[in-house]
Amino acid sequence: MSAQSVRVPFVDLTRQHEPLKAALEQAVLGVMERGDFILSGTLAKFEQAFAAASGVTEAVGVASGTDAIALGLQACGIGPGDEVIVPANTFIATIIGIRRTGARPVLVDCDLETALIDLDAARRAVTPKTKAIVPVHLYGQMVSPAALDAFVRDCNVLVFEDAAQAHLAEREGRIAGSLGVGAAYSFYPSKNLGAFGDGGIFITSDGDLARTVRTYRNYGAAKKYVHTELGTNSRLDSLQAAVLSVKLPHLKDWNAARNQSAAQYDQAFAARPKLGIVPMRNDSGTGHIYHLYVVRVRPESGCDRDKLQAALAEQGIQSGIHYPIACHLQPAYADLGYQTGDFPNAETLCAQILSLPMFPGLTAAEIEATVAAITAVMIAAKV
Ligand SMILES: *Cc1c(COP(=O)(O)O)cnc(C)c1O
Repeated sequence: MSAQSVRVPFVDLTRQHEPLKAALEQAVLGVMERGDFILSGTLAKFEQAFAAASGVTEAVGVASGTDAIALGLQACGIGPGDEVIVPANTFIATIIGIRRTGARPVLVDCDLETALIDLDAARRAVTPKTKAIVPVHLYGQMVSPAALDAFVRDCNVLVFEDAAQAHLAEREGRIAGSLGVGAAYSFYPSKNLGAFGDGGIFITSDGDLARTVRTYRNYGAAKKYVHTELGTNSRLDSLQAAVLSVKLPHLKDWNAARNQSAAQYDQAFAARPKLGIVPMRNDSGTGHIYHLYVVRVRPESGCDRDKLQAALAEQGIQSGIHYPIACHLQPAYADLGYQTGDFPNAETLCAQILSLPMFPGLTAAEIEATVAAITAVMIAAKV
């Protein structure tokens, strides 16, 4: 098979849904037949299953991952006057969630090799106003639990995990979402566990926090028409919970398939050390669940990232950039007062990273074709 003859999608969700079609249809029709669209037993069952899988006692389904961050942090007592430490190279939703509480997001740089938050930089950013840190388990790899424990011991702040890219990721024997006071997950369709639309969940082992988020998501009503909190409307639909309940039992296998695909990419690039393609470092073995497979295109290679991406697209090989502009340089957040140069590693990554095709069902032949195409482009750029 020549590289030119293969079109490789960045993500193809039909491949994971096709074998589950009958079960998914039944689940969706079941909701229609029961008519239990909002705050149903279907939702409660999914919440219990997701909490159990994550090693916590409580899960509260909400409308999106962004809401899970905002409502979860708010339930933790985070609000105006507080500071929350967060990496500069996350998806903007992390910042949106923090700002919605009224707290100030305090951005810090990341590690160049893993793209995860630099906890030494985080230590330097702590002030008397710091209430929490939101580590982001970016690309499917957890921030080290032991390092976070040490950070909390030294700095006495809450840990609230953004696990939106790390469904059941593991590191040092611990599961994403179980490290701190609470955690947020997203079920955006292309996440490792995705709904048929938007959805999210807040998880915790603190019964009071879970109760508060349950109240927030339902108009602030502790019981019907008694509004004890300034709440909102943010519930995970029964339809989405039904779909997610069908998919959850397959998540471990899907994550394992992603990990295997990543190993194939890793091996291929390790065999071509002079190419100038450097995969993000995996410090967690099979616990890395590869929401994204990200490489750096080294500028010394003679080919820059944008050129490589365009050449691949021409051959029908899709790729992505997560993310091209760091949060501190986004126009809407100019009021935070950051500027170019503040977070050099995050900025370097923005210029060099490329996300290659990664999804359960991606074939070995497609990975081979992708690597072959990259190799050809990079070698051509050198001469
Ligand atoms: C997807 C994502 C979110 C937000 O999730 P939504 O469900 O889209 O609101 C938050 N943080 C990170 C790191 C994400 O990747």
